[in-house]
Amino acid sequence: MRLSKLASEIVESPTLALNEEARLLRERGEAVINLGIGEPKNKTPIAAILSSGAKLSSGEVKYTPPDGLPSMKKAVIRYTEENYNRLVAPENVIITNGAKQSLYNIFYSILNPQDEVIVIAPYWVSYPEMIKMCMGIPVIVTPEDGTFTPRFEDIERAVTSSTRAIIVNSPNNPSGEIYPPELLAKIVEFCERKGIFMICDDIYHKLTFDRNVAAPAYSFTNKDVEDSHIIAVNGVAKLYGMTGFRIGWVVAPRQLVKVMTNVLAQTTSCVSPIAQSAAEGALNGLQSVVDALRLQIQNNREIVLQEMKTFTGARLIPPKGTFYALPDLRAFNNNSVELSKFLLKKALVVTVPGKEFGMEGHIRISFAGSVKDITEGIARIKWALDATSPNEIYIGDKKMIRDWM
Ligand code: PMP
Repeated sequence: MRLSKLASEIVESPTLALNEEARLLRERGEAVINLGIGEPKNKTPIAAILSSGAKLSSGEVKYTPPDGLPSMKKAVIRYTEENYNRLVAPENVIITNGAKQSLYNIFYSILNPQDEVIVIAPYWVSYPEMIKMCMGIPVIVTPEDGTFTPRFEDIERAVTSSTRAIIVNSPNNPSGEIYPPELLAKIVEFCERKGIFMICDDIYHKLTFDRNVAAPAYSFTNKDVEDSHIIAVNGVAKLYGMTGFRIGWVVAPRQLVKVMTNVLAQTTSCVSPIAQSAAEGALNGLQSVVDALRLQIQNNREIVLQEMKTFTGARLIPPKGTFYALPDLRAFNNNSVELSKFLLKKALVVTVPGKEFGMEGHIRISFAGSVKDITEGIARIKWALDATSPNEIYIGDKKMIRDWM
């Protein structure tokens, strides 16, 4: 069959593929623990349910304007004022099918063939693939010192005359790192000076622990949204645990939003008004739901840190935000794909290989799930990798044998 070369070269989303493998194993009755997917366990906030329910009951479920329902945009404008300290016009906002579509539309709208985008490792798996889909070139900058925070000089050095954007995701998926304010300030200043975009993927911006805060890029410039080079991406998937509603949004200069609106209109027409109304309800409703989720996740993080303390050989930089930890398991195997496969086979635990995030020798563990799953999942990982652990254990009534890969 003759298919598009560009499309055929796009790799399968590894997280979704692993999730599917776990689902199939579970269907076969295996006691699989999924520490792979980044999805909070909470129920949809009641304000979101009521708001989308009202929309549905009205029977008025039609196309919306391609850039979003005016009332949803209003909610985003308020959110932007409260969280980013910026007054924006409706023309600065576009509502999309998840933050994923926001990002794809941004790349599609700013890149010409062979244009480059700086991606900082570890990075969210989809960035490089999306950039390639838009005929661009992802240029990866990897911290050399074993941390998850890049040096500004390394970013600067990777920039060429073809660079169109730097993408910054802090708090970071998969490491949970929050970049220091000095670094962000330098990137903002650099992007303004060079006339390149700083794409801020802020999808986890309120999921931070202890006294850590993820300062928005806007706090490092006096420019308004129209004149700055910042593009802010956000959504309801992580902060409100509303992954299935598929709502994201972008705040950016009008000219870019206009192009993105045409792209969205010609591809998906608009975002479902039922989902938009749900997100509107979440944004306008009680914000204590976000804090409740954050506290629950912070508690989960404590459990991860506790469990990892007794994991000889594993090195973990404690996550400051998100619901991911990225332990360094090079003491056991440099090949993270082999490690993840081994852990699924031997311990029935789903993890994501660090290789997918540009961090070989690490695995990503999601702690968005239940305390029981996190405790048991990490215990099983330790059992499978620690050479001093007993050779056999029972998972349910299934005997598992720990023979090294
Ligand atoms: N950015 C990052 C860093 C993410 O982790 C995710 C979801 N895993 C997204 C964007 C996409 O979010 P959404 O579900 O709203 O498309």
